[in-house]
Amino acid sequence: MQIEIIEMEETRCRFLLKDASHAEANALRRTLISDIPKMAIDQVEFHLGPIMADGKEYESVTPLFDEVVAHRLGLVPIPTDLELMSFRDECVCGGEGCPNCIVMYSLNKIGPCTVYSGDLLPLGHEAFKVRDPLIPIVTLSDGQAVLIYAIAEMGTGKRHVKWQATTGVGYKYLPIVTIDEKKCDQGMQCVNRCPRKVFDNVGGRPVVSRIYDCTLCNTCAEECDQQAIEVLSEPCEFVFEFETDGSMSCALALETALLIMEAGFENFGEMASELDV
Ligand SMILES: [Zn+2]
Repeated sequence: MQIEIIEMEETRCRFLLKDASHAEANALRRTLISDIPKMAIDQVEFHLGPIMADGKEYESVTPLFDEVVAHRLGLVPIPTDLELMSFRDECVCGGEGCPNCIVMYSLNKIGPCTVYSGDLLPLGHEAFKVRDPLIPIVTLSDGQAVLIYAIAEMGTGKRHVKWQATTGVGYKYLPIVTIDEKKCDQGMQCVNRCPRKVFDNVGGRPVVSRIYDCTLCNTCAEECDQQAIEVLSEPCEFVFEFETDGSMSCALALETALLIMEAGFENFGEMASELDV
């Protein structure tokens, strides 16, 4: 299995997976979705009773049920440092909660206003400040207020989707589009009809310019009057792409997924060799 990076941005990436079987590509997909640890808010404590601010009394209430607000806070991507944080139930503190396994946040807002993810303030290190500050949580009317303490901890997508670091994880076979120059009459049907704009008109000749965008829909071959185009796919090469929710970089997510797969295969090998057959 080899990887060749095509695009690697902070939260979006695309790469070629070479010398791989369909099963290996799917194993990587499933690992990216469900096995990468990340931080997410898991406990939310709401202040009850009146809140005094600026000499005025506010009611601690929102238009939404507390459960809905808590659910929305759980889905806010929390910056994750995999070297710094450990799972709470495996931590040296025995699960009580310490700086190695939890991050506490406060949220204190008075209406009228919209409460955003950026209003979550980490109690401690600024590195845990939410990187996407404009996710709306709830809108408060005049006289309404919220005072919330929340605790984030590590988890994986297997337990709940709020711990899923990646989104849009998918792959396709690497397309092979060939144009038979002898048959081509430069009618440009392929350039004009391809829904993904894979072809360019270069000096009056159609040229495949963006092969990774091809979805193997075969429109170019069907539209070509001269039947000059053939669309095939490479069976052992995959165009793989995914995004992260911002809690970590794509590079870190991919590296972590590959390490998890390597450890899993080693364990499997050891267990298989111990079988008495
Ligand atoms: Zn701990």
